[in-house]
Amino acid sequence: MTEGPQATKRPEKFEHYLNRAKVAAERGTCLRRRVGAVIVKDDVEVSSGYVGAPRGTENCCDLGRCLRIEAGIPSGQRYELCRSVHAEQNAIVNAARSGIGIKDGEMYISSEKIEGAYGRDDLYKPKIYGPCMICKKEIINAGIKAVHMREEGIGVRSYSIKELRTMLADEEKRLATEFAHLAPKQGR
Ligand SMILES: [Zn+2]
Ligand SMILES: [Zn+2]
Repeated sequence: MTEGPQATKRPEKFEHYLNRAKVAAERGTCLRRRVGAVIVKDDVEVSSGYVGAPRGTENCCDLGRCLRIEAGIPSGQRYELCRSVHAEQNAIVNAARSGIGIKDGEMYISSEKIEGAYGRDDLYKPKIYGPCMICKKEIINAGIKAVHMREEGIGVRSYSIKELRTMLADEEKRLATEFAHLAPKQGR
């Protein structure tokens, strides 16, 4: 091992893009998690995004409150209660805003729980959650070809578009069971 500047480890590209996503996440406004995303196309970072309320509106962190927290919503559910646009969505939207093509790009995501943000242990399990159901749909339709997600301190997982489609179908089955009681009763 050499001493001095040469000894600094140069990250591999895969790690580099995840690190870039982590830097984007620093600007996030969510009170629970820091999430950032970058889109890489032809080995160039072409877009990025972090969690934030629509431009010109107040962020959860400005208000110091989020309805999802106040209602004790577990991780992964009822996103419509939060004003934020997700990091993955913002990375896609920011590309559209600037007229940048992202088809066939890959998305790198960094996610990290904010210490103490959940309060109750049952609302968060340390695992790689993956993009939420809404982001999965938008990633598929944006033409992104793969997603790499790092839950900081927990691990990295890559998803092909085929896997995202399967996950959506599985989630739909789970939801169909969960909400079966709301279905109109037959024969009445
Ligand atoms: Zn919120
Ligand atoms: Zn999402």
